[in-house]
Amino acid sequence: MSEALARQLRSVGIRDERVLTAVATTPRRLFVPSFLLEEADADRPLPIGHGQTISQPYIVALMTEWLRLRGDERVLEIGTGSGYQAAILARLAREVFSVEIVPDLATRAGKALEDAGIENVHIRVGDGSRGWPEEAPFDRIIVTAAPARIPDALVAQLAPGGRLVVPVGGDPEHQLLHLVVKGPNGELEAREILPVRFVPLVSTDPTPRA
Ligand code: SAH
Repeated sequence: MSEALARQLRSVGIRDERVLTAVATTPRRLFVPSFLLEEADADRPLPIGHGQTISQPYIVALMTEWLRLRGDERVLEIGTGSGYQAAILARLAREVFSVEIVPDLATRAGKALEDAGIENVHIRVGDGSRGWPEEAPFDRIIVTAAPARIPDALVAQLAPGGRLVVPVGGDPEHQLLHLVVKGPNGELEAREILPVRFVPLVSTDPTPRA
């Protein structure tokens, strides 16, 4: 369990008790490579292979707070990575659909989630910038790799009343975490939350964008 990590996140400003409980009851060590076990409960990003990282727990918790999950949502995550963020979401929402572009990471994340006893996460290999149209719409969408601009498909797959949390920026030095809220009639409201540093969202879309 990760109670110490939850205490650490409380001390740096995470307030949502449900999020803190999810962190405390989700062993991060199941999601990090075995040679990094001793660092599993540190509030730091860690390498997971394929040039990718498991996000810093503070950022996982902060993004989860901004989603404002109540328990009955269907959530889309782009960038499964280690599966740790998906595990946190799974404890706070009804169902999680997670898309990962690297097949080996998707496989390993699936095993880690199984070891954690989590059954409400569905993983699919593919380009997440297209979302997961067959399962849309989603009440919440979280993107854990940074696109240069927010993919239209994700905004389209967000349900009315839904929230989308996404780091935006092609330059890793100048990314900003964005919150997009879709109103009951589909109107969009966006705000910037804070500077962040994520790996780029890889695009397989051959169409150049303006
Ligand atoms: N949420 C993860 C951290 C993800 S790191 C965790 O909790 O560990 C970002 C992940 O996004 C990487 O695994 C990377 O392979 C994946 N990724 C990058 N571009 C993608 C794309 N277009 N579609 C889906 N996944 C993508």
